[in-house]
Amino acid sequence: MSQSSPEIEQLIQLMARLPGLGPRSARRAVLHLIKKKESLMAPLSAALDRAVAAVRVCETCGNIDTRSPCSICADPRRRESGLLIVVEDVADLWAMERAGVGAVSYHVLGGVLSPLDGIGPEDLAIDQLIGRAGGFSEIVLAVNATVEGQTTAHYVTDRLAGSGVKITRLAHGVPVGGELDYLDEGTLSQALKARTVF
Ligand code: ZN
Repeated sequence: MSQSSPEIEQLIQLMARLPGLGPRSARRAVLHLIKKKESLMAPLSAALDRAVAAVRVCETCGNIDTRSPCSICADPRRRESGLLIVVEDVADLWAMERAGVGAVSYHVLGGVLSPLDGIGPEDLAIDQLIGRAGGFSEIVLAVNATVEGQTTAHYVTDRLAGSGVKITRLAHGVPVGGELDYLDEGTLSQALKARTVF
């Protein structure tokens, strides 16, 4: 039996559904919010309300913004670069932007092919990608270096065959600041295969 009121219990249950938060952390977070009611809980609640009203998914690329087309798709300098980066998730798009990759466009697939989980091509934004591919000179498949990611990359490459667009993928290898002795064998052999001229 819980000793909290239904309002607080519901808040804890909702918080526990956030990624990275289990019931125990959710309870701690809610307690913290209640203790900081004026300085944190009220502004958070207002920010959530505003976000609920304003957030849109971009119809062109799948990015999350407060407008559609999103501010990235609406930027003509990005279109002119001719470079389209394909990512699995909006989080990957945001990671690319944090890395400052420059004036590029994006396409969010919304996941990867996974027969085990029943995720097929029709569940991802692959048709939309094929539809807009012709407007670019190069498409970078920046999917994760997992089995599903690479399967998805092969499938997309097959679908884009004959489009005349150059298709590339991210390099696999030694991370910046990485030490060779600590790398797994797969990464190290990939790094050797993908070596570049010094
Ligand atoms: Zn967009």
